[in-house]
Amino acid sequence: MAVERLILWDLDRTLLEAYGFGQAIMGQAFLRLYGVPAPDGVPTAGRTDKSILRDMLALLGRDESEQPRVQALVGELAREGVVDPVGVRALPGAAAAVAAAAGPTVLQSVLTGNLEAIGRLKLSAVGARGLDLDVAAFGDDHTYRPDLVDVARERLASRYGASLEPDRILIVGDTPLDVEAALVNGAVAVGVATGSYSTDDLRAAGAHVVLPDLTDPRELLAAL
Ligand SMILES: [Mg+2]
Repeated sequence: MAVERLILWDLDRTLLEAYGFGQAIMGQAFLRLYGVPAPDGVPTAGRTDKSILRDMLALLGRDESEQPRVQALVGELAREGVVDPVGVRALPGAAAAVAAAAGPTVLQSVLTGNLEAIGRLKLSAVGARGLDLDVAAFGDDHTYRPDLVDVARERLASRYGASLEPDRILIVGDTPLDVEAALVNGAVAVGVATGSYSTDDLRAAGAHVVLPDLTDPRELLAAL
């Protein structure tokens, strides 16, 4: 496949609603390691799991150096199926928008702050038709979301031998942090107001294209 465009979709509240599935697994990990639930009140929207875990550890007075073992246990618990992803739902229009954006030179994948074990379970719960997960950037390796764009680009290069100019990459997400990840990298930012942020919020964050939801993706397609 000669890739000329790359679309990187966010998961939570962009393609799907997970109803706290990831946090439930993190909660189990904290219980097992520290005997207490994961602390409440840590913002999650648009953030990487690494940055969320860092804040949770800090609230418990634990050192950041403990993060790798928390992360490892979260992955283990996810794979063990300690929390059932049965409640994870695709958002309206998501599957059709991915199908509509497909094309012979368009590759679509995922850019999410989710740890890979969690992100893959969510995707398997909703079906990931049309998404090439070999190119996906999950949140395992970076705390700062914009750094995940290079993960996808490196995978695109190794899998397809393709090197795209940043403006050939669309990053679709529901928060100003998704928009930031695009803008920092010179990519096209597409905001979808299906999370906690309005179309105005996403426009103010600098999104090039803003959609109320994915039921009518024409403006996204026009940006391709
Ligand atoms: Mg999101």
